[in-house]
Amino acid sequence: MADKKQDIIIIGAGPAGISAALYARRAGLAVTVVTKGPGALAKAEGIENYYGFAEPITGAELERRGIEGAKRLGVAFQQGEVMQLGFNDAFNGYKVEGADFALEAPSVILAAGASRTTLSVPGLKEHEGKGVSYCAVCDAFFYRQKRVAVIGAGAYALHEAEVLAPHASEVHILTNGEQPQAAFPETMTVHTEKIAAIEGDGRVTGVRFEDGTMLPIDGVFLAIGTAGSTALARKAGILLDGANIKVDDAMATNVPGIFAAGDCTGGLLQVAKAVYEGAKAGLGAVKYVRVSKHSAGK
Ligand SMILES: Cc1cc2nc3c(=O)[nH]c(=O)nc-3n(C[C@H](O)[C@H](O)[C@H](O)COP(=O)(O)OP(=O)(O)OC[C@H]3O[C@@H](n4cnc5c(N)ncnc54)[C@H](O)[C@@H]3O)c2cc1C
Repeated sequence: MADKKQDIIIIGAGPAGISAALYARRAGLAVTVVTKGPGALAKAEGIENYYGFAEPITGAELERRGIEGAKRLGVAFQQGEVMQLGFNDAFNGYKVEGADFALEAPSVILAAGASRTTLSVPGLKEHEGKGVSYCAVCDAFFYRQKRVAVIGAGAYALHEAEVLAPHASEVHILTNGEQPQAAFPETMTVHTEKIAAIEGDGRVTGVRFEDGTMLPIDGVFLAIGTAGSTALARKAGILLDGANIKVDDAMATNVPGIFAAGDCTGGLLQVAKAVYEGAKAGLGAVKYVRVSKHSAGK
């Protein structure tokens, strides 16, 4: 496992995250990249529109070479899924947490790729902020002694459910037709029926399943698949434009010290753009860390 304290934590080992890591590490900072495994690039059979390759290269090989190059420069790697990103008052920086690791740094670069895990059922969009939430740690407090449901079947759903459990009177897990892929405690009721709609009258009142049955509920939390870029951004209070993270020209988000790069910022979803944005985010984070260290007199 990587050292607990770093200058910069980068979430994602695709072209954006690795490019950011190269620039930050070559500036002499301590950099850790967290990755849950292959990203979008690994799915590309052949890349022949990226600079420097006379013959097409598979996405998996390009990704592997990028990671190896970063390791050669001394970038640390942490394997695992990030499920929580938030400010840590005690440290005056950010905490990046997974099921079995926790890292802290004054600056974070989100390069976790495009978020592709969404749910399209009637009533979901209409009730966002009115009983539909994407962040348990942000909203659990509003559901004290209320009935909540987490939509998802894996480790991320379990993480969100565990955050809600001490507050809510009931926690239901809705796998929407999938088999549960995490060990949900017996105190949580698992429903495997497919979801037909989120019902409500201005606020969520329940979930209707395809078999016609209703589950009365006060709040629904989305945690499908793994925690994607937008889910992590929401947890840290980062502004979004639809499913894309909003950034300025220096790839800075609205949250000081957090930058974003690559597919998660939208636009052209290509390696060249991810690498360019990663470089800018890496340099932006270096500047931010240096200024913070200088002001703190470190
Ligand atoms: C089938 C296919 C073919 C393509 N062909 C081309 C092509 O020919 N040319 C081209 O230029 N582009 C192509 N692309 C697009 C290209 O792959 C992407 O634009 C590029 O990979 C984006 O880089 P990224 O670093 O933003 O994200 P990704 O490459 O998706 O990397 C995301 C990283 O984030 C990590 N991650 C995500 N969530 C978490 C989490 N919660 N915790 C920890 N780690 C996390 C992943 O493990 C991964 O390491 C193709 C894409 C696909 C799917």
